[in-house]
Amino acid sequence: MSARVCRTERACSFSHLMISRAALEPEDLLVCDFDGTVLDGAANKKPPREIFIHTEIMRARPDVNSIGHFHPETATMFTLVEDRPLIPVKNHAARWMDGIPVHPDPGHINSVSSGKSLSATLGPHHAALIRAHGVVVTAESVPALLVDSVHFEENAKTLFHAAALGTVRGLSRDEMTSFMERFNRTAHVEKLWKYYLGRGVDEGKVPGEWLPALGVR
Ligand SMILES: [Zn+2]
Repeated sequence: MSARVCRTERACSFSHLMISRAALEPEDLLVCDFDGTVLDGAANKKPPREIFIHTEIMRARPDVNSIGHFHPETATMFTLVEDRPLIPVKNHAARWMDGIPVHPDPGHINSVSSGKSLSATLGPHHAALIRAHGVVVTAESVPALLVDSVHFEENAKTLFHAAALGTVRGLSRDEMTSFMERFNRTAHVEKLWKYYLGRGVDEGKVPGEWLPALGVR
């Protein structure tokens, strides 16, 4: 995942996670420019090969401040079958009411040109699937990205199970518009960010002393 560091300069830098994500420490974060050059971080560490997912989407989308790329089993399955698109069926999936495009190239996004191609597929949307590979989710902040990523795979799992039960009635445009009108995204993100960080602390994965710096009181 990545987070935009500065918002004003054209050559904005961003931090990027690398190596073993499960053992990530603050000193493992890298600050890179949009060409993938490391500007700050340990000299012996390199950004991930798929950094161009992040650089090219951030370059094209000033509204996006955080990007996640992962390989969830269920959501990715929807790129493998005919006539069964990934559609919003759970209320929080109204986030993707304008569609979830599918990038046709399953290869790694390890070049500027493949990053630009994926960014073009994403267009103005908040998420895209990459065929036989994984997903890209975009958000306005790191906490929002975490919450959206959880809801994204949840929605895919629910659709998968509902399809086994019978004909699926996806959320209508009206239902999603109505949900969004009454939905307080800021409060929801804050609540779940706190919840998941609390779980991380309980499970020994997040040091408790990090919480103030992560915005949790
Ligand atoms: Zn990947």
